[in-house]
Amino acid sequence: MGKKWVYLFSEGDESMRDLLGGKGAGLAEMTKAGLPVPPGFTCTTEACLAYFAAGKRLPEGLWDQVQQAMQVVEKQTGKKFGDPKNPLLVSVRSGARVSMPGMMDTVLNVGLNPETLKGLAALSGNERFAYDSYRRLISMFGRIVKGINGELFEKVLDAYKAKTEGKRDTDLTTEMLKEIVAEYKAIYKRELGEEFPDDVWQQLSQAIEAVFNSWYGEKAVTYRRLNKMSDEWGTAVNICTMVFGNMGDDSGTGVAFTRNPNTGERELYGEYLVNAQGEDVVAGIRTPLKIAELAKVNPAIYQQFLETAQMLERHYRDMQDLEFTVERGKLWMLQTRSGKRTARAAIKIAVDQVKEGLITKEEAINRVTTEQVDALLHPYFDPVAKEQAAKRGDLITKGLNASPGAATGAAVFDAARAMRRAEAGEDVILVRPETSPEDVGGMLLSKGVLTQHGGATSHAAVVARGNNLPCVVGCEDLTILPEERKFLYNGREVKEGDIISIDGTTGEVFLGAIPTVEVDFAKERDLATLLSWADAIRRLGVYTNADYPRDAKRARELGAEGIGLCRTEHMFFEAERRPAVVGMIMARTDEERQKYLDQLLPFQREDFEGIFEVMDGLPVIIRLIDPPMHEFLPSRLELVEEVTRLRCSGANPQELAEKEKMLQLVESLSEVNPMMGLRGCRIGLLIKGVTEMQTRAIFQAGCRQAKKGIDVHVEVMIPLVSHVNELRLEREKLERVAKEVMAEEGITIDYKFGTMIETPRAALTADELAEYAEFFSFGTNDLTQMTCGFSRDDAEGKYLLQYVERKILPYNFFQSLDQKGVGKLVEMAVKAGKAVRPDIELGVCGEHGGDPASIDFFHRVGLKYVSCSPYRVPVARLAAAQAALRNG
Ligand code: ADP
Ligand code: MG
Ligand code: MG
Repeated sequence: MGKKWVYLFSEGDESMRDLLGGKGAGLAEMTKAGLPVPPGFTCTTEACLAYFAAGKRLPEGLWDQVQQAMQVVEKQTGKKFGDPKNPLLVSVRSGARVSMPGMMDTVLNVGLNPETLKGLAALSGNERFAYDSYRRLISMFGRIVKGINGELFEKVLDAYKAKTEGKRDTDLTTEMLKEIVAEYKAIYKRELGEEFPDDVWQQLSQAIEAVFNSWYGEKAVTYRRLNKMSDEWGTAVNICTMVFGNMGDDSGTGVAFTRNPNTGERELYGEYLVNAQGEDVVAGIRTPLKIAELAKVNPAIYQQFLETAQMLERHYRDMQDLEFTVERGKLWMLQTRSGKRTARAAIKIAVDQVKEGLITKEEAINRVTTEQVDALLHPYFDPVAKEQAAKRGDLITKGLNASPGAATGAAVFDAARAMRRAEAGEDVILVRPETSPEDVGGMLLSKGVLTQHGGATSHAAVVARGNNLPCVVGCEDLTILPEERKFLYNGREVKEGDIISIDGTTGEVFLGAIPTVEVDFAKERDLATLLSWADAIRRLGVYTNADYPRDAKRARELGAEGIGLCRTEHMFFEAERRPAVVGMIMARTDEERQKYLDQLLPFQREDFEGIFEVMDGLPVIIRLIDPPMHEFLPSRLELVEEVTRLRCSGANPQELAEKEKMLQLVESLSEVNPMMGLRGCRIGLLIKGVTEMQTRAIFQAGCRQAKKGIDVHVEVMIPLVSHVNELRLEREKLERVAKEVMAEEGITIDYKFGTMIETPRAALTADELAEYAEFFSFGTNDLTQMTCGFSRDDAEGKYLLQYVERKILPYNFFQSLDQKGVGKLVEMAVKAGKAVRPDIELGVCGEHGGDPASIDFFHRVGLKYVSCSPYRVPVARLAAAQAALRNG
């Protein structure tokens, strides 16, 4: 026997997902669990790959196996494929490992021709239903398998609907459906130059090949590229006995989630459409019923469905997204998969499921992604500003709140244009009548999505929820005219480029921009619970980078356990301090400079007092001045311009003299490569008094706060060291100052001196440095820049993105640590440091401290903590726990 390409639903299970695809595995698993699944079989993903390997030919043996499987299905159903008396009809459905926009849509009712049509009508006693099924087959097959423009069929259907009283598809009479079938066949022939195939086996084989071919369809390829999915997976094809939701009012089709995918609430959530087939619900043909209303329409079916849904959720131990059909009062399950959900729902569901005993805390931590935690902390619209906007009349409409969050941007009416404008750095909102798989690229780059049609399970809603995009759908009182690049409402219009704001949490749509406010973390109880579990699991500490007391306070609320980087120079930029700062730089003698430093001292002391107060009991790592001095002075170009202007006018000789003096100074300080210039510890070593002043301020602040009962732990960090002598000299000097101040203040505080590791030479000589450093803090921004020789400010703006796009670099090393290169230096320094000083404290304060992949690395090399910006702290807490679970 050759290779097995085909598996009956009864032969597979969930573990065969790679081979059977997600949908096939789900159908098999449900079959195995004894749920009502229409009989069928799956052609494997391997068959798809073999099809392409053979130059788009069905692999040897596949067709025989399909025919054999059909025979089994015929036995199971008591019908026969192509039999005029008792015809078996099937659907042909694509199904890759994960569901993917751009894959072929499902073709329903395969197996109908003029003969079997009569049989179906006779058997069901319902001719109208038979013709309804046939017109669906012709249009789906024509559109999906043969690529005929679907609008051609739509137009015909709409014209007939318009002739009926109710204007709905269900109002079409049998006669009308017969005429529609005839017109559809004519369209088919006109477009393709051939008849619609009567041979049912031809229908089947062509549909199967079309599914395979869709694997390399443009949309599917783009989607895989954007989502880093492999072309090597292939798609499976599912052939499934038709069950009919379009047999009358005791039939219908539905889509439902086992929990609310927006809020995470434990309730059935979804929609049901009476007397309809396939994706009529999603396509928004008629207004569907809320699933809860099914309880009234058909209590028995509702009850059975509810129990099935609950059983599936228990079985998969996760929230499920279900598709089902009711045929004359009987429930059939057609699909189950893990449901996409909003960030908020993901967190609530994970926490609830732990409390329900369905999953463990560890599983909950792995179920929630760091992106979801990040998304939950995103700001929302200021309620007061919203109210004002509404009063102004800028509240345009209220649609369905399909995916929460606040988004403001320029309205753009086409996905490709949205993509272009977003790539150019503009905030855009994609506005469409509805969305389809080809819009996904543009959707993902937009800040939000707005559609006129569709419900909570429409394409736009599902994609947006899965990607944390704010989304409002079903704004039926808007008229969206993509061709004319505008939408109309109440006689007014919004053109492409006009700014709009959408609130995916409430469904409101506003004209203009609305300011946003921060999330109240204290109220996010589920997130707090999840993160408390994460805290119990992680080994890495999570500190924050904060320069001001207010940032420190926020970070502490978000769970920061210390300050890993407090920069001391930001304060120098404040207006009231500028004269003293400039005076200090311009000073000619040490005495003159000291005068200005004495002026700066109380300012700096105040800065630190506030920080110590907020961080009571937690470590605070303060970095001494780092940037080159010229950053505190006016720009050279500006000065040249002013001097020239003053010279020409001759009006103000005194000002001219001052400016000339400043220009001279700036020129004397100017460096070809300031990032490698007189900065970091070099300032402290070469400009007398500066770091002494800072140290004095730090210790005065610490001692005075300690006297007030605040628990101070200060660590003084010396930047940009590359030779041990720099560290030794600077430390000896500063420690003297520290001791002096503590003696003066009559109190001692807990303190450490340490260094940043941010030059390659520091990493290479970490053993020497460890003699003089009680801690290392890896400054991975500078370390990356100097290790790779990329000037960050230039590279990121210029060539680095191209480098990443062209895969010259695997990713942006400034976003995620270069583990192979820079990481090797980190690892070496960690080992060398520990060898010399076993209790050396090791952490990282570069921006990589908030990046999950880098956090995983820092966990593995055994750092004590990562430090990141305040709003990344919750993300880092989760990432650190996930790293601990992943690596032990
Ligand atoms: P998708 O991947 O887009 O969800 P599916 O293969 O699940 O595509 O098909 C879409 C819809 O078509 C299903 O939700 C169901 O309503 C309908 N459908 C598919 N197969 C059958 C079938 N055998 N009988 C009745 N309806 C079907
Ligand atoms: Mg579909
Ligand atoms: Mg489906």
